[in-house]
Amino acid sequence: QAEEEARERALPARTRDGHAIAIGANVNNPEQVPFALDQAAEGVGLMRTEFLFLERGDTPSEDDQFETYRAMLRALEGRPLIVRTLDIGGDKQVGHLHLPKEENPFLGVRGTRLLLRRPDLMEPQLRALYRAARDCVAADAPIGKDAPLAIMMPMITSVPEVLRLRAACERIRAEIGAPPVPLGIMIEVPAAAIQADILARHCDFFSIGTNDLTQYALAIDRQNTELAPEADSLHPAVLRLIHMTCEGAARHRRFVGVCGGIAGDPFGASLLAGLGVHELSMTPRDLPGVKARLRASEMAELKVLAARACAQEDAAAVRALDAGIGGDAS
Ligand code: PEP
Ligand code: MG
Repeated sequence: QAEEEARERALPARTRDGHAIAIGANVNNPEQVPFALDQAAEGVGLMRTEFLFLERGDTPSEDDQFETYRAMLRALEGRPLIVRTLDIGGDKQVGHLHLPKEENPFLGVRGTRLLLRRPDLMEPQLRALYRAARDCVAADAPIGKDAPLAIMMPMITSVPEVLRLRAACERIRAEIGAPPVPLGIMIEVPAAAIQADILARHCDFFSIGTNDLTQYALAIDRQNTELAPEADSLHPAVLRLIHMTCEGAARHRRFVGVCGGIAGDPFGASLLAGLGVHELSMTPRDLPGVKARLRASEMAELKVLAARACAQEDAAAVRALDAGIGGDAS
């Protein structure tokens, strides 16, 4: 029985009509990799590096970070790893950095905004990443979706932010003599989704952060428990932003992942696949359910489902569409 389940889990998330969706895990440290692989993750679609800062009382040095990134790459044995640069601020406050207190941290100096203002944080992180690439990534390694290492920037709102971070990456890569590493951006601010067709010119891939995209699109603080039932990532307005993102990416043949919570929900994952997302990355325990659901679906049906979802009046009506899609695969 257990063997049977493991065999089923290991099958790719390929729909009945033959469309494969890449399935990654959200994993923050090398110790969590074995469990993710056991759940049949094909790689890591999101490594949140702020946890390296949150889980200790001081700032990890360049060497500390390098060791961690290298350990992640080694644990993954060539499977894709997407490392997100620091996303501090908002809900991730790091006491020992002594950052100024803000009235509205979610609308403040957060993520890439902070990194660009703090070379003392940006330089060691990028150096550690390119040192890990130099050590572990072959010069002829695949680029694009199967790259063994990719770097991703959080909280992008504008083209100049991408250009500035890209320039820093390119300078440091050249200094270190590392192979090229794809550079992607998180789409988690409505401005980025709306300008996806333009941002796609300047980066190699997108990963949609539906937790923040929902918060910023619906103007609901993601930590507000009173409003939690309304902060639904399946709100049609959020789905339309995701659709815009996929269309913008397609114009430049960029791949699009989703690493927010809704990627781990079997029905949410079905909608995302129908909207044109290529990769889903989630908490490891959610992997088997999502895979099973996608394997029981037809992409042609999911596309129709996604279009219908975008046309609904509210999130409840979208959820009501989850009747019998893909059969009883939960
Ligand atoms: C998101 O916003 O959906 C996301 C994946 O990033 P985080 O939850 O770390 O903000
Ligand atoms: Mg986010």
